[in-house]
Amino acid sequence: MSEELLKYYRQEVFPTPFCPGCGHGILMGAIVRAIHDIDMPWESMLFASGIGCAAWIPSPHYKADTLHTLHGRPVAFATGAKLFNPNLNVVVISGDGDLAAIGGNHLIHAARRNIDMTVICANNQIYGMTGGQVAPTSDLGDTTVTTPWGNPEPPFDLSKLVAAAGASYVARYSVTQIHYLIKALKKALQTKGFSFVEVLSPCPTQYGKFRGIKAAQELYKDLKSRLVNQKDAQSMSRDVLRGKFATGEFVIS
Ligand code: SF4
Ligand code: MG
Repeated sequence: MSEELLKYYRQEVFPTPFCPGCGHGILMGAIVRAIHDIDMPWESMLFASGIGCAAWIPSPHYKADTLHTLHGRPVAFATGAKLFNPNLNVVVISGDGDLAAIGGNHLIHAARRNIDMTVICANNQIYGMTGGQVAPTSDLGDTTVTTPWGNPEPPFDLSKLVAAAGASYVARYSVTQIHYLIKALKKALQTKGFSFVEVLSPCPTQYGKFRGIKAAQELYKDLKSRLVNQKDAQSMSRDVLRGKFATGEFVIS
């Protein structure tokens, strides 16, 4: 971690609780880098998170005002805070299970209302912290602790869902695309209205295990092999895109 960024962290809580090789550590640093680079006043920030591994990114690690809320509810808490104090720069950081399953309605309606906040969704395609249950982002056929014979349901395309709901900025990148990711985070933070960044963040402990990939670096290689530029993806059929991720910007206002 670079020296200039240390001031943003509660250094006394390190090391993080993330498993070795978890993508969330990369994402935690990328968010701070983006905020620092655009000079967004740190004291104007409010971070809200729900329940799950990704929800630990801001709280306790960021030396800032944080709300570690109920499962699925960080967008609702963030909405209330923004209405009470419109001067706050409100950022929600949580996982795919939290934001897209139990919190799915809060997410799409906040996008529809175009509430001025940034939502960063760490998508690892599984419930990591609770032991590896199927998530609404798990691929068709994925084996998880609750789908031992394979997931019978197709996943949400979260970025397209939020874009269709009316967000002002939507992008999806992997933690392996760090420069693009930081650029997207900066744009999202500077967007007036609802902005959404979906971040593909590998979970070696649960998703890797069920995918039959033991080493974290192999899971990162596997994820990289599944990324497709969203402009190229536009001419690909749904069958070709199954199991892949279109990455790039989907909505720019
Ligand atoms: Fe990361 Fe998965 Fe471990 Fe949670 S369970 S900290 S998501 S690797
Ligand atoms: Mg998850």
